Amino acid sequence: MAEQFDVVVIGAGPAGYHAAIRAAQLGMKVACIDAALGKDGKPALGGTCLRVGCIPSKALLDSSRQFHNLQHIFGEHGITASNPKIDVEKMVGRKDAIVKQFTGGIAQLFKANKVTPYYGFATLHADRLVKVKQHDGSEVELTGTNVIIAAGSDSIELPFAKFDGEAIVDNVGALDFTEVPKRLAVIGAGVIGLELGSVWKRLGAEVVILEALPDFLAAADAEVSKVAAREFRKQGLDIRLGAKVSKAEVTGKGKKKEVQVTFADKKGEETITVDKLLVAVGRKAASKGLLAEGSGVKLTERGQIEVDEHCHTGVDGVWAVGDCVRGPMLAHKGFEEGIAVAELIAGLPGHVNFDTIPWVIYTEPELAWVGKTEQQLKEEGIPYRSGSFPFAANGRAVAMVEPAGFVKVLAHAETDRVLGMHLVGANVSELVHEGVLTMEFKGSADDLARICHAHPSLSEAIHDAAMAVDKRAIHKAN
Ligand code: NAD
Repeated sequence: MAEQFDVVVIGAGPAGYHAAIRAAQLGMKVACIDAALGKDGKPALGGTCLRVGCIPSKALLDSSRQFHNLQHIFGEHGITASNPKIDVEKMVGRKDAIVKQFTGGIAQLFKANKVTPYYGFATLHADRLVKVKQHDGSEVELTGTNVIIAAGSDSIELPFAKFDGEAIVDNVGALDFTEVPKRLAVIGAGVIGLELGSVWKRLGAEVVILEALPDFLAAADAEVSKVAAREFRKQGLDIRLGAKVSKAEVTGKGKKKEVQVTFADKKGEETITVDKLLVAVGRKAASKGLLAEGSGVKLTERGQIEVDEHCHTGVDGVWAVGDCVRGPMLAHKGFEEGIAVAELIAGLPGHVNFDTIPWVIYTEPELAWVGKTEQQLKEEGIPYRSGSFPFAANGRAVAMVEPAGFVKVLAHAETDRVLGMHLVGANVSELVHEGVLTMEFKGSADDLARICHAHPSLSEAIHDAAMAVDKRAIHKAN
């Protein structure tokens, strides 16, 4: 006999654990199933984000940033250190401890909220029956009045560069190199390629990034991409645009493995030899083995679970959230969808505002934005005014030796309503939320300009940029 729950959540990643906890808070009997194992072979909740994504990459970004600053920035403060070294094993160990702390934290949150975890692989059948193949081989059956699918996503593999977990890796492998590769090639100058490429570059690797598209970070505001490309190249990241990779051949064995990567760009065909190849060309919705015949849930042409604007699949009581459905593959988008669906099930007005989802790339400098880019506003024929302010003129940024980058505020030309905020610079992953808040509350550039900002702070660059929309910035010529 299948055990009956009010809500069965498939997947305990960002979207799934938010859905499960919120549903439990609202008084429902909830089960949450996850198949993932941690590096120690034990079940690990939290999904890609906590195990092999957002959190571990930020741990390594921080470690490598400290090392880079010690070598290249501390001198400006008058601090010198002779012959600094990086202990990669210790750095990776610190990252693993953080992952363990946070994946264990989800298990504790489930306990505190009385969410029942199941550890194994779930398949959805007709009538909201969920069969779970547990790690010991046994099977349990659950039924939910509602089922929320939050199955996440997997790395896309290129047919000519299959992952071998050693020389050709995805983000998971690139978090666990045992030493700094002398030469690293990355396919894809997207979020993962830039973040993990930066980690190993800062630790001393020669890094070549091969991007198929002719434009760098086409999704970001063009001015932001331009400054970012300039800063990354200054750091020594060798970014090749319009580069079509055709072959990746592994030679040698064990530690002597090398990869010959062949690509063509406007200069012609070239083959480079590297120690490691990171393939970071995007992710695809995870749906393999998830849906049994008769579940009624449909997939889109791109293999995502088909849902309406409320994350409903069209099958009575079956919902889907996070990376496995349309929209950006961002943990925080999944958080919001998970909460919204739990609230909709409880009869509350759950809602996600897709117009105010922030984007962040945790490079040095960081990139962050919310709302429309200038390119989008032009394409859509929306009249706008733009105000920007460079961090080089912000006292706090200069005091921190972080003068690179700027803030740009885009506001409607007639109503002054903020339509977008684009930032590149230090700590902009935090600053962008000032734009998110303003847009969420339908605020204007003038509202932002009239809000008192602490001095000295990086946030003053937003203040000045907002004033610059009306050509009244104080700390620069308008
Ligand atoms: P991405 O979509 O950000 O970037 C992939 C890049 O690879 C693109 O620029 C694309 O043009 C390029 N590309 C595709 N095929 C190629 C080919 N054959 N040769 C060369 N280039 C090719 O994908 P990603 O970096 O793999 O990240 C996957 C997902 O994870 C993204 O949706 C991202 O939003 C998410 N993520 C987010 C963060 C963050 O928010 N900071 C961090 C990591 C990952």
